[in-house]
Amino acid sequence: MSIRRITENVYELNLGKSNAFLIDDEKLTLIDTGEPDRSGQILELLASIGREPDDLKHILLTHSHPDHSGSAADLKAITGAKVYMHAAEKKWVEAGFVPKPDHPYFTGVVNRLIYQMFIAKAPGSITPCAVDQLVSDGDWLPIAGGIQAVHVPGHSEGQLAFFFPGAKNVLFAADACDNLFGLGYSTFYEDYETGRHSLEKLATFDFDVACFGHGRSILRGAGAKFCRKFIGHHHHHHPVRAQKAQGTGEAVRMREREEKI
Ligand SMILES: [Zn+2]
Ligand SMILES: [Zn+2]
Repeated sequence: MSIRRITENVYELNLGKSNAFLIDDEKLTLIDTGEPDRSGQILELLASIGREPDDLKHILLTHSHPDHSGSAADLKAITGAKVYMHAAEKKWVEAGFVPKPDHPYFTGVVNRLIYQMFIAKAPGSITPCAVDQLVSDGDWLPIAGGIQAVHVPGHSEGQLAFFFPGAKNVLFAADACDNLFGLGYSTFYEDYETGRHSLEKLATFDFDVACFGHGRSILRGAGAKFCRKFIGHHHHHHPVRAQKAQGTGEAVRMREREEKI
């Protein structure tokens, strides 16, 4: 368990099996909460940077898997923070039970083994946690100057990534992919094809720093790495979403990355 500052106002919390992230904007926003029973450790890490439980105001859940939503209920009870997530997985977090996919898809033998050893037998139960606010694709949350939710299904149906322009452009990629053995596909997908489309979508964002549920954050040139890894092999051209973004006139900081590939 450790905490490291990765940008002026973003901290990476290594909680053992998974990561959580903290955005420090006077008040604190936590992205994911680790497994059940991690709340004490998370609050210790907050204390180590001079912050108190009361400072935590927002908890953004990327998805319902117990290694991400496990300590949400405890943290909410202790701090009074508001919990945000996508509608598609709200029911699991509120019921306190997160089912495993019937037919998980693995991108390789190693990932299949990791799943069989660590995930298949892990309990699906968490302390039930009421969700305060539902978040949809494209929503800008008025937190820390603006955080955009990006729906990235595939690993799980209601998974959200978060794009945080802030001082540096940071993408919280959740389990859309991981950085365990270098940047790569996640351990498993409920729907791999959908998961690959989600990664193409993420690669259209303009970010320097990428943060993952599993593996260390990439601190430089992360957007270009996503393009090379997740777009380069499959397509020569991916202008659709970038054009759409320009059309909306929103400050979504997306642009065509074609020239970089
Ligand atoms: Zn997951
Ligand atoms: Zn995970």
